Amino acid sequence: MGAITESRHFSSAVGLHPTLETMSRDALAALQFDRLRDVLRNAWANVPWQRTRLDAAGLQPDALAGLDDLRRLPFMVKTDLRDHYPFGLFARPVDALARVHASSGTTGKPTVVGYTAGDLSRWADLMARSMAGAGVRRGDLVHNAYGYGLFTGGLGAHSGAERLGCPVVPVSGGGTERQVALLMDFGARVLCATPSYALAIAEVAEQMGVDLRRSGLRIGMFGAEPWSAAMRDEIEARLGLRAYDVYGLSEIMGPGVACECECRNGLHGWEDHFLFELVDPETGAPVPDGAAGELVITTLTKEALPMLRYRTRDITRLAHARCDCGRTHLRILRVTGRNDDMLIIRGVNVYPSQIEAVLVGRPGLAPHYQLVVERRGSLDHLRIEVEAQPGVEPAAFEVLAREAVHHIKSMIGVSAEITIVAPGSLPRSQGKAARVRDLRQGRTTSA
Ligand SMILES: [Zn+2]
Repeated sequence: MGAITESRHFSSAVGLHPTLETMSRDALAALQFDRLRDVLRNAWANVPWQRTRLDAAGLQPDALAGLDDLRRLPFMVKTDLRDHYPFGLFARPVDALARVHASSGTTGKPTVVGYTAGDLSRWADLMARSMAGAGVRRGDLVHNAYGYGLFTGGLGAHSGAERLGCPVVPVSGGGTERQVALLMDFGARVLCATPSYALAIAEVAEQMGVDLRRSGLRIGMFGAEPWSAAMRDEIEARLGLRAYDVYGLSEIMGPGVACECECRNGLHGWEDHFLFELVDPETGAPVPDGAAGELVITTLTKEALPMLRYRTRDITRLAHARCDCGRTHLRILRVTGRNDDMLIIRGVNVYPSQIEAVLVGRPGLAPHYQLVVERRGSLDHLRIEVEAQPGVEPAAFEVLAREAVHHIKSMIGVSAEITIVAPGSLPRSQGKAARVRDLRQGRTTSA
């Protein structure tokens, strides 16, 4: 598997690997078919739970006739990994692994994922490809403020940057004043971080009297949480860089499953390594191009942990038309939200990123907010706390709140209570932002 190696062959002009990124849709489908059969063989031979499922679906690997046959197989969900904690779905014994990562596991057991040396190498290739697509070039200094550790963000971005031939400053998250100083002193060209942490860096820089727009930063590789176009504008204006959306999830690999190219009209999903489907979250039926649905991913080259039809919970749309950049791989339009984060407020479905899109950039409001969901009587009640911009008089808070309530109601159709709070009073993220406090179940979710 993964016979094609792709490192270090990028065209220096456009960061493109022509053979792999611009192959015809037919060639891509043929490659996917070969690799799907390999990954089914691996799962069938080495993961008893997968063999049972494949047999039940009549999907013995050698009987596979086309990519669509895979639709006979039931979906995998996150609890399948938890139910087989820690290594029960691995296709390799522990002593054949090169690394293990795990999710933070705010509720119950963490989700554990594993990689062979080959898996790590392909991950580095795909993250390098993603960075090259966003304009990062060999030799660019990369400041990596994703958290290092069990979370896949830090080491994923790190390995990709190294594979591309970039020196890395492995700062990890936190110590924000020091991050600002290092950005100015070292002159990094590329910042890797969650979007909420990028904003926290910008804010601390402003408090220190440092103008990061005058630093060497030109490119931001931001991911691991959904973020709005309004947040992108805000981050770009304050950091003086061009911000790119990176998509990934540890169950499938980590960052680099998909990434925006310089056209920024969707994230190219790397179809030579993953099979992407979009399904109706209620019925599981396929959704046509352009319609919204839940992203389902099958890994085509993972050795240690083959994932077959994994429901990501991410709601998005797909586009198969060729991109202006020349890449033929499909585009995943910006993820608007994760199904788990969707709030139902008096019958209206609301994603935190929709609220963000309305609030961020409004005059007088800072891009720091938190949603609090409460039960009042038999009804769910949404309260939004949003910070005023520094310098706004407290006497103006009430008018700002009234305007924001009106805009939320007219843009999203939901009635919310809005409290404007003083600058700096809401918690700042050093990784994934906790946007929602759900007091109905006493839990906090990242959005
Ligand atoms: Zn493109």
